[in-house]
Amino acid sequence: MPGLSGDRSSESIGDERVAATARVAPGLCPACAEPHSGAAADTAGLQQALHASETRFRAAFTDAGIGMALVDSEDRVIEANPALAEMLGRTVPELKRLHIHELMEVEDHARHAYQRLVRGEQDRMRLEKRLIHRLGHAVWTNITISLIRGADGLPLYTLAMVEDVSEARRLGDRLHYQAMHDPLTRLPNRSLFFERLAGAFAEADRRVGLCYLDLDGFAAVNDTLGHHVGDELLVAVADRLERRFSGRGHLVARMGGDEFAVLVPHSAGEVELSALAAEIVEILGVPYDLAGQRVVATASVGVVERPVPGTTPTELVKDADATLCWAKSDGRARWAVYDPERIAHQMTRQVLATTMRPALERGEFMVEYQPLVDLQGGGADLLGVEALVRWRHPQFGRLGPDRFIGIAEETGAIVPLGRWVLETACRQAREWLDRFPEAQLFVSVNLAARQFRDSDVVADVAEVLGATRLPARLLQLELTESAVMGPAGRPVEGLHALAAMGVRIAIDDFGTGYSNLAYLSRLPVDVLKLAGSFMEGFREAATGTEAADEQIVAALVRLAHALGLTVTAEGVESELQADRLRATGCDTAQGWHFGRATAAAEIDRLLAKGRATL
Ligand code: C2E
Ligand code: CA
Ligand code: CA
Repeated sequence: MPGLSGDRSSESIGDERVAATARVAPGLCPACAEPHSGAAADTAGLQQALHASETRFRAAFTDAGIGMALVDSEDRVIEANPALAEMLGRTVPELKRLHIHELMEVEDHARHAYQRLVRGEQDRMRLEKRLIHRLGHAVWTNITISLIRGADGLPLYTLAMVEDVSEARRLGDRLHYQAMHDPLTRLPNRSLFFERLAGAFAEADRRVGLCYLDLDGFAAVNDTLGHHVGDELLVAVADRLERRFSGRGHLVARMGGDEFAVLVPHSAGEVELSALAAEIVEILGVPYDLAGQRVVATASVGVVERPVPGTTPTELVKDADATLCWAKSDGRARWAVYDPERIAHQMTRQVLATTMRPALERGEFMVEYQPLVDLQGGGADLLGVEALVRWRHPQFGRLGPDRFIGIAEETGAIVPLGRWVLETACRQAREWLDRFPEAQLFVSVNLAARQFRDSDVVADVAEVLGATRLPARLLQLELTESAVMGPAGRPVEGLHALAAMGVRIAIDDFGTGYSNLAYLSRLPVDVLKLAGSFMEGFREAATGTEAADEQIVAALVRLAHALGLTVTAEGVESELQADRLRATGCDTAQGWHFGRATAAAEIDRLLAKGRATL
């Protein structure tokens, strides 16, 4: 067939095509698919007519920049152009011997659409198809297939126009890859993580698991070793995680910063997930060799494992993140499993933290007073009281200070609260002094470290004493050792000023901290309050070695006395403990044995009994 492509096989192409024409619909040109004037004539005439009338179409077909093929009703390529041949790494004659199944996989839906086309139910179809290059690789194409009908309107051939979109697709793939991966570690990023997580949630009858982790002290690595080492560490961490876990069907993703996630889309249960978390902690804890230096890093992991129904992807991640925080606050380099009770507790904390200040204004706090008694006088005389704050919470009921003092210290609410307790206790003590002057009852008020840091305690105390007209000697302030020492290891400013005012300073919970007696004695400290834990050894009657507890306390008391301090024991719960304690020489005591913290009116009754003896 002259004019088709000029290659040696032109003739046979023409022959075949004619043969096909004859078979499919005699008298029609297979290329332009129109009946030609000589269609009804003999073969020679037909050939001539074809040749004459096809020229224009053939030129367009051959020279087209887009791949083209004619396919017969039996899916055989009966004509193809050089552009298509080049696209597929073949020659035109080669292509023309092929069945389209040798060039592509035909899935059912495409086959059905194609069959509809061939049956004439449809004139055109488009599809995106992966064709197979002679060398085996894929060529991504957009194919438009048009049905070519004969004069009688019956389907004859299909004409496929094939556009190579591999390059565009590769670019699209690259853009998609970039949008879904972290450039530093090449791990899937947050977006891909959430896409896969949504996929896991698409099946209702499965369990999913998530290990959410971050590196402990990563900021310090960045700061001390530089950002390039920090980056290398992240890459090394990603590498360890990926090598260990992605082969198991888990997704390892970098969530941002030094946070990573290992998603288990088909979880077998919590046991599998906690084992996974333990493995993460272990493999990430092995030292790293980065840029010639050995870097030690650890990771903390939060684990959530649950069935898909009843939870959402965002909830899963939020809970895993919260659980990670527990692992961190529990001491790092460890994993923690999500615990709904702990979350509830945390929520309560949150509520308490935000409602504390308005609650103080609404008058929800109250102060109770616990007796401090003389141990050595023989009668357990009431010498003073410790002011202990309580919260009458409208929702949670009566809350002890252990529930909210820590929170108040964190939020700073301890400053107004502590001032309110101080004022309330001092006003009360002044009232007792007015009504029971012989008792000379003192009040002992707890001060938190933050009150020294964030407010002028000295000024507050002076002001309160002035306003309530309470003599300074009837006020005792309790500070823990760590509060006295302050964050810089230096005694807090103001201690001397308070002592100079005539206020007594007591060291609270002595024995639980540094317990540096010699040092404390150089500060203006008057009283040591032995922590309740000392009383534990005093529970049973002393037999043999248990007398050692007594000897320790006795030695401590002697030393304190030598240094000019008096000693108060806390947590005395029984007669036996009181007796053994008295034997150590301890001066004063406090505990349920003598009296629990109680309303001011109860203290009134004790004082009214005259001798103030319990
Ligand atoms: P703390 O200063 O060591 O107070 C003594 C705690 O021991 C009180 O608990 C008291 O009720 C309890 N206690 C007394 N006798 C016994 C006993 O015989 N056995 C036992 N097991 N416990 C006894 P509470 O009232 O719950 O106070 C807890 C802590 O809250 C206090 O410990 C104190 O550190 C803090 N706190 C209380 N009120 C205030 C305050 O106004 N300001 C500050 N900053 N802290 C306060
Ligand atoms: Ca105390
Ligand atoms: Ca105490």
